[in-house]
Amino acid sequence: MTPDTATDAEQTSRIAAAWKKQGLSIALVPTMGYLHEGHISLIRRARRENDRLIASIFVNPRQFSPSEDLAAYPRNLERDLEICRNEGVDLVFTPGPEQMYPQGFQTNVSVENLSGGLCGASRPGHFTGVCTVVCKLFNITGADRAYFGQKDAQQLAVIKRMVRDLNMGVEIIGCPIVREADGLAKSSRNSYLNTQEREAALCLSRALAKAGDEIAAGVTEAAAVSAAMRAVLDAQILARTDYIVVVDPDSLEPVPVIGAKALIALAVFIGSTRLIDNMLIER
Ligand code: AMP
Repeated sequence: MTPDTATDAEQTSRIAAAWKKQGLSIALVPTMGYLHEGHISLIRRARRENDRLIASIFVNPRQFSPSEDLAAYPRNLERDLEICRNEGVDLVFTPGPEQMYPQGFQTNVSVENLSGGLCGASRPGHFTGVCTVVCKLFNITGADRAYFGQKDAQQLAVIKRMVRDLNMGVEIIGCPIVREADGLAKSSRNSYLNTQEREAALCLSRALAKAGDEIAAGVTEAAAVSAAMRAVLDAQILARTDYIVVVDPDSLEPVPVIGAKALIALAVFIGSTRLIDNMLIER
């Protein structure tokens, strides 16, 4: 059976409200499409834990800066719908920009401090675009639970903060990073990489593995761990490091000495493609 699709926010709200009326729990998995196993892991967990599942597919122009890859962002709606059908998604919400941002639209949701560092430093306005669209998706669907990947660790922290700060009645569930067999974190943007770049992109997961080795060997200073990671990245000629950080996963404040909980995150340009990856330390 093909999942129902809706491009219209009001239609989506009506369907979701009818489910609510029947006492059914509703999950939302927001995506920008071009679905891969990372997205599918979110969809599967959401499917298991809820009565009804809505996946959204929307390449949100407001989270791309003018210099970024909005027009080139990979899209394949037919294949995405096929995946959604196979995974038992009940409703796929696929609005166009004109439905999400009609004439006169002028409201933004900003999470101030958490959005400034890490990816926010090189992508000004990105998280305001993300929060605004995610807030709209929560309001449209009335979801009880929403599923996000740990792959975008800053996004997860920002959205959790938004939900707490604005008393949104949705539970945010973070899901582990899904990787290719060789360690590269799955990402729609991996499709930009040529053969050489695909090989070079392994330096991100290798740098994280190096950090893991250092920590396992007893190194606790964030500066030493970061330096070891930087050495791995510097050895890769096609890589240009944007950032390496060791931070608290909730506050995103620097953690100088790695104790019970830390997020080690990095962003690296491979050629012109910017890739991110991270590792959560919980012990
Ligand atoms: P995107 O389509 O890139 O906006 O991603 C939609 C959702 O899928 C976000 O919550 C991402 O964090 C999540 N996601 C993307 N890649 C992965 C991955 N490799 N593993 C787990 N979740 C992912």
